[in-house]
Amino acid sequence: MRSSKTKLAIIIPCYNEELVVKSTVETLLNVLDGIIKKDKISKESYIYLIDDGSKDNTWNIIEELHKKYGSKVKGTKFIRNYGNQKALIAGLLGVKEIGCDCVISIDADLQQDENAIEKFIDEFHNGADIVSGIRNDRKTDTFFKKYTALCFYKLMNLLGVKIPPNHSDFRLVSYKGLEILEKYSEAGLFLRGFFHEIGLKTAYVHFDVKPRALGSSKFNFFSLTSLALNGITAFSIVPLRIIAVIGVLTVLGSGLLAIDVLIEKYLLHNTPSGWATLVFLLAFFGGLQLFCLGIIGEYLGQIFNEVKARPRYIKEQELI
Ligand code: UDP
Ligand code: MG
Repeated sequence: MRSSKTKLAIIIPCYNEELVVKSTVETLLNVLDGIIKKDKISKESYIYLIDDGSKDNTWNIIEELHKKYGSKVKGTKFIRNYGNQKALIAGLLGVKEIGCDCVISIDADLQQDENAIEKFIDEFHNGADIVSGIRNDRKTDTFFKKYTALCFYKLMNLLGVKIPPNHSDFRLVSYKGLEILEKYSEAGLFLRGFFHEIGLKTAYVHFDVKPRALGSSKFNFFSLTSLALNGITAFSIVPLRIIAVIGVLTVLGSGLLAIDVLIEKYLLHNTPSGWATLVFLLAFFGGLQLFCLGIIGEYLGQIFNEVKARPRYIKEQELI
């Protein structure tokens, strides 16, 4: 049993969220108050907002909220947009430094059910180091996102990264989890894979997803594809092995084809015209090679990014 004086930090990545950030913070402060009254978390629990280089008024609103609520609402601002994963990592490492016993990440649009936060805390008090929020369904997603997400989780599972489907970045991490995170210096860390892999005691809480109240999704086709590709190449080298296996099979296949060609030519004296076959094979293997090169390129890109060892993000301001 952990102490009821748990200091909870809630982290919220924000990118152009001027329409929702104020009401989100106020709703979450109410939720925190409710849990504080039940004596499950300490009065020093707080919210930490990460402005991921917003171009709108988000940061001004965060500053106003900080003035109004003091240390209950903290924040940091990136110098530019680095993407939601980097904002989450900055939040996790930021609150570790500021101080907390556990941290919960939630989206600025509050699509995730804030009432599940208390359940997360209960699981934490029962000994879990990671509590993952699992969506009950994907009703609020577009048709495209629903099916691409489904394919992504299926593919990740096939590749050996056993992330439960309908996983989200709505999760609780204990201080112990944050200490482990700090040891991982890789820039392209994919948090859903990471927290699943490190092997800490994990609990699951199911929650309902609400539609976004205001504003629009900050993800587009390209940022989602990039997130998915990063997730795959950061966590699995199976695609590289598949390429090697395809290579071996192709060589074996072409050996058989060579035997057939020789028999046709010297034994049967029946040299085939074979133009269609030739064109097909040319196009097929040309495409296959480019595809395989593309996969290798993705891994090379990962290595390129990691070898440069640039900072994950640069913070411009901090309100504590
Ligand atoms: N976000 C971010 N940086 C980005 C894109 C998104 O910090 O480059 C934040 C965004 O403000 C929100 C969360 O990530 O708090 C999830 O984004 P969104 O709700 O737009 O995604 P969706 O719900 O459509 O998956
Ligand atoms: Mg959303």
